Amino acid sequence: MADAGILWDMVHSEDLCSVIKGVEESARTLKPWSMQWRIITPSGKLKWLDSVARPERQENGDIVWDAYVSDVSDRKRAEIALQNSEARFRLVTENMSDLVCLHRPDGSYLYVTPSSKTLLGYEPEELLGRNPYNFFHPDDCDHIRSESHQPSLNGVQKLTLYRMRCKDGSYVWLETLTDPIVADDGTVKHLQTTSRDVSDRVQVRQQLKHDALHDSLTGLPNRSLLLERLEGRLQKAKAEPDFQFAVLFLDLDNFKVINDSLGHSVGDALLIAVAQQLQTFAYGADMAARLGGDVFVLLLEDIEDLAEAISVAEGISKNFETPLLLESGKQEVFTSSSIGILPWDPSYHHSAEDLLRDADLAMNQAKRSGRGRYTVFSPEMHCRAIERLQLEQELRQGLDNNEFVLYYQPIVFLKTGEVKGFEALIRWQHPQRGLVSPGEFIGVAEETGLIVPMGQWVLETACGQAAAWLRQFPEQNLRISVNLAVPQLQPQFLKFLDYTLKHTGLPGERLTLEVTEGVLVKNFDAADRLLCQFKSRGVNVSIDDFGTGYSSLSYLHRLPADALKVDRAFVSPQVPDARNQAIAESIVTLSNLLELDAIAEGIETPEQLQWLRTIGCEFGQGYYFSAPLPTNDATQLLAQRPLSISHSTETSPQKETVSLKAASISGVS
Ligand code: C2E
Ligand code: MG
Ligand code: MG
Repeated sequence: MADAGILWDMVHSEDLCSVIKGVEESARTLKPWSMQWRIITPSGKLKWLDSVARPERQENGDIVWDAYVSDVSDRKRAEIALQNSEARFRLVTENMSDLVCLHRPDGSYLYVTPSSKTLLGYEPEELLGRNPYNFFHPDDCDHIRSESHQPSLNGVQKLTLYRMRCKDGSYVWLETLTDPIVADDGTVKHLQTTSRDVSDRVQVRQQLKHDALHDSLTGLPNRSLLLERLEGRLQKAKAEPDFQFAVLFLDLDNFKVINDSLGHSVGDALLIAVAQQLQTFAYGADMAARLGGDVFVLLLEDIEDLAEAISVAEGISKNFETPLLLESGKQEVFTSSSIGILPWDPSYHHSAEDLLRDADLAMNQAKRSGRGRYTVFSPEMHCRAIERLQLEQELRQGLDNNEFVLYYQPIVFLKTGEVKGFEALIRWQHPQRGLVSPGEFIGVAEETGLIVPMGQWVLETACGQAAAWLRQFPEQNLRISVNLAVPQLQPQFLKFLDYTLKHTGLPGERLTLEVTEGVLVKNFDAADRLLCQFKSRGVNVSIDDFGTGYSSLSYLHRLPADALKVDRAFVSPQVPDARNQAIAESIVTLSNLLELDAIAEGIETPEQLQWLRTIGCEFGQGYYFSAPLPTNDATQLLAQRPLSISHSTETSPQKETVSLKAASISGVS
């Protein structure tokens, strides 16, 4: 037996108290004493001892222990290491936000980390033994089974994204890594999943995707989403011959005016209100989309026939007959839309872009025919559009190649036949088509903006020519009239006007600018401001084609105009009737009352001339006097004395190129 005294000296100071206590207790009760305690060996090593000692009282009263002491240091260290690692494991599982689970091969839960509580609202015990498929979003189950569960049962690690229902019924997006746990025999015994809540990330991604496919103002699908859907419908229609759909392409008729006059916030509110209206026409899979600006599209799915699409278009137009109540200032705004209807036609359309382009063409056709109308697309529209495109290109080339010329039509003092001036009218000397009249290209030039450079050329050429005539025939006090188109009526036009007058040397009072009545109707205030600026330069203003533009008589007296040109529809109507004559007479009377000149357009017969003279119309132009003339012929006319013309034998514009033969020197009889 070892000397117990040596051991006492080595007892670890932290264990000394309990060892002494244990020994004293054993001495008092004479019960065996057992304990694990530490010693520090003389070489400084820590050792764990396990001792069991049985007390025995000697005859002299001393107590002697019969003890068995063993070195359990190795076992104790292993125990402590295990305790530490368990504590660490608990620490990790209790504090981690990821959900780690162990599953049986059928998916049911074997082990669930405590994070299930924070992630899903379930205590781990509530999940144990249950099948996770009961918690997956129904739409995700198939995907999870095929993309994750099955492959991992085959030993493949898989990462998937799916939705899982929480205890409160809401869903979280989980990104889950599924690991197979393979036994020694190679079979998959368990599956381990590590799931992370990625709801925020998915939401941000979904929001970005939504924003990329929707219009931020109205919330409607945008062009990209519409094209995607249209592409899908095209595929479906090609596969299912009975499937019919139609595209309604809408453009508001007066949006620019509302935006400019009532402000952008009212404009925005109007667009939102229109979007809401349109949505009421979209049933089931139909889609209302905004392409930008004031352009909307309604995709009608699975319609019976064209008549159904037409009735929807009529319904939309009818709805716009009542004013829209805007959320903003409780303001009521009237609007209308031009609608192009494109029914699906298997023989014609190839792509979603084609569908939109053709629906747009039909809408443009509707717009040309007036406000609030609809037009059904026909393939000829496409041909016409191509022709227009070609025309536009040729017009550009024509401008570059100086293919345009001006003709001059005399404006005559009706009492005497005296030439008071000329109206400059543009012609296109086309290399293949010969002389082309403006009716065939002015419209396209206006739409494409080409009218601006073209109009500048006209103004410069006409002013230059008039200045030359004034120098050559100074006694004749001639005036030159130049037509202006809407796109030219911009403030920067004034600069060009000043430049032209200065550089050609034509006095402002020798120039008349003709604006059509339609221009005034569209934007009276802006036109009015510009016309005042013309007047301040001494330039005269004529209102062209008067009587055709539905202008309000109420603002006519405010207009800074000098003359009204009575449209030829009232002077030489194709079928003369009393109403046209009455209108012409009223315009002449009105111009006299407002102290404006009246200039009759399109005088073709002596009877018309006679009648115009009797109703007091002072000026006129028309084939009866002269067709528009090339420059040389106009100069020749000016050289005649006295400067007055009777009538021309030219009665058709086709003969314009023939020089003026009948500009006789006699007065008008
Ligand atoms: P407008 O300004 O009303 O010009 C009068 C039109 O009537 C001219 O047609 C003229 O040739 C035609 N005309 C003149 N007398 C008679 C007649 O007795 N009977 C008939 N049936 N027609 C007559 P044109 O030259 O074909 O011009 C057509 C329109 O094109 C013009 O109408 C004007 O609006 C526009 N236009 C012509 N030149 C220019 C231009 O340089 N700039 C702009 N912006 N428009 C122009
Ligand atoms: Mg004119
Ligand atoms: Mg006219």
